[in-house]
Amino acid sequence: MRKELLQGSAIALGVGIVAVLVVVAGLRTWRALAPPPRSTRANLVLVVLDTVRRDHLQVYGYERPTTPRLQALAAQGTVFEEARSTSCWTLPAHASMFTGFLPFRHGADQHHLALSGDPATLARRLGDAGYDTAGISANPWVSYRTGLSRGFDHYRDLWRQRDRSRKTWTRHPSVAAARDWLDHGWDRKRPFFLFVNLMDAHGPYRPPRSSARVLFDGVGDMAGTFRRYRSIGRKGLVRAWFAGDEPVAPEALQAARRLYDAEIRSADAAMGEILDAVDAVSDPATTTVLVVTDHGENFGDHGLVGHAFSLHDTLVSVGLVARGPGFAPGARANGPVSLVDVFPTLLAAAGLRAGVVDGVSLTVPPGEDRPIHASYAWPEQVLSTFYPRELEDPRLEVHKRALTSAVVGPWKIVRGSDDSEVVYHLGEDPGETTPCEDVPAQVLDQLRKAAGVPSPGHQEPRSRRRSAPRFDDETSEALRALGYL
Ligand SMILES: [Zn+2]
Repeated sequence: MRKELLQGSAIALGVGIVAVLVVVAGLRTWRALAPPPRSTRANLVLVVLDTVRRDHLQVYGYERPTTPRLQALAAQGTVFEEARSTSCWTLPAHASMFTGFLPFRHGADQHHLALSGDPATLARRLGDAGYDTAGISANPWVSYRTGLSRGFDHYRDLWRQRDRSRKTWTRHPSVAAARDWLDHGWDRKRPFFLFVNLMDAHGPYRPPRSSARVLFDGVGDMAGTFRRYRSIGRKGLVRAWFAGDEPVAPEALQAARRLYDAEIRSADAAMGEILDAVDAVSDPATTTVLVVTDHGENFGDHGLVGHAFSLHDTLVSVGLVARGPGFAPGARANGPVSLVDVFPTLLAAAGLRAGVVDGVSLTVPPGEDRPIHASYAWPEQVLSTFYPRELEDPRLEVHKRALTSAVVGPWKIVRGSDDSEVVYHLGEDPGETTPCEDVPAQVLDQLRKAAGVPSPGHQEPRSRRRSAPRFDDETSEALRALGYL
């Protein structure tokens, strides 16, 4: 009797196992035949508002109407309150977004003006997974010359356009290029990844006339502001500031800042139009959109102009708004995040693993004490824009150093290759005006550890001539127009 029962149970168990196996096999077949789950086919968009300070964005409380489209996006997505770049300028910041690595690991910075061949880029990873990938860049630092177009199926270097005059624009070139690709270029059998760099807010400033109504008291006010800004002269703001025969007049600096706001408005409008074009072809509920700024800009803050020589939050604190699955509409996320998080976030949205990188997906809430790292190699490239006699100016002397910084909780440390070290308490002094004198030893220890290893470009190069950048004529011309050469 007992034996029969056991036999009966064994038979029942056998039948059960077979049934499970049949179901599993059936599921496998079904999976093979059915289209992949939606989450792995999500379309992805990354828009970079180049050179836009966090505190000039309305979503972070700026009072001037610079960014109505970003406001609207924020209502549909999540605003990251504590986002920071990995450096203070375009090349290392974009290389971090495209690889998930900090600058000391990806190696693209002042001392080495390109991404090396090793790290798999976001576009390459997505392309390998079946994505159709397109990049549109108005910034020559984000191009095939710097290795940052690597992996894209389609890449438009918009800065190569001969005529960059806004008077002849019928449509913002980045918007036109994005629409063109979404309407005619994208292979609709594949999910897409679209990256756009919008350069409007990078100097020199020449905002479109449509700004006059919104950010100036009419055309006359705008023209007068432009004249005051142009008094800085052909040297450009950075060289006028450090190597000018006369100090830059406060009203010229103020004018630059007002024109800068108008340029942010222009970038915001372009970003909005690009997202309209995206939403017309891709379901917003399943599409992941990240809008970020890559670094800020100084207008006399901390005795500096432009975006060089500093890891202050005026440069390193950035704007970040995310919309799509995993990002609650209208939410504000408080944890510390970094531009290195862009890479794992977009890969996760595509159903892919990032592997071992410095970033984590933005959909995972970070711990409050997560260290956020930034660095700036010895400013070889920036100093190459000065004439030799200008380089002897004592105003430049203090800036001939590399910098690393780390933010841990409310604390921030900035260390220089000249053995300088300052600590700020961002909770009490968000403007980084007064270095802390009595930092608890344990905190200081933690901050020094977090500031980490010096980058390969930590020391002054032995021969500046040998490591000077080499670009083709067109790239050189574009970089010169932006004040880089
Ligand atoms: Zn930039």
